[in-house]
Amino acid sequence: MERLILAEDEIVRICDRLGKEIDASLKDEEGVPVVLGVMNGALPFMYELIKHITHPIQLDTIKVSSYDGMETTGEVHVQKGPDQSLEGKDVILVEDIIDTGITMNFLKEYIMREYKPRSLKVCILIKRNNLKMKYDEKADFVGLTTDEQKYIVGFGFDYHGLFRNVPYIFVPSIKDIKSWEPYFVAEEKKQKKA
Ligand code: 5GP
Repeated sequence: MERLILAEDEIVRICDRLGKEIDASLKDEEGVPVVLGVMNGALPFMYELIKHITHPIQLDTIKVSSYDGMETTGEVHVQKGPDQSLEGKDVILVEDIIDTGITMNFLKEYIMREYKPRSLKVCILIKRNNLKMKYDEKADFVGLTTDEQKYIVGFGFDYHGLFRNVPYIFVPSIKDIKSWEPYFVAEEKKQKKA
């Protein structure tokens, strides 16, 4: 790897802090909020985070896509909505990263318009101070703010759909990327055939 961004134990510590912050924000809450994870990237983060929330919650997911390989297309598509009605509920949207801000800007507007929750809060693992930021989207709960501009991989962050299962987050080296080529070339071939 070129650089480690977050080790496994650092991720757990961050989730513990975020869980406590979320609990504190729900202190006087009587209803059951819905933790809404953005698939696929935020799933490992969501599953670690919820272990550290003690307030009763429900889980749901929404699936969006905007990236093609390592490039953002600038267009966000919703591939799967939540399974339950969010109308009148308090929703905590859990996302892996705010980078250009395009996805978060879209998601907030889309969720409010389509699902009409009572409130919408945002929890992200990483906020990148992107030099090409399109929307300065703020989150209510932030794990780590970084100036790292390079593409990151691991703990939900993919490289051509792979390596979301790596338990830490890192910037891959050129050597890593070269060694991964056979995997994603084989995967892409399979997908084209299907
Ligand atoms: P944004 O719309 O803010 O530019 O980016 C949001 C989405 O882009 C994230 O949900 C994530 O899927 C993807 N993304 C942004 N930066 C990275 C990165 O460095 N690595 C990976 N694997 N995905 C990223």
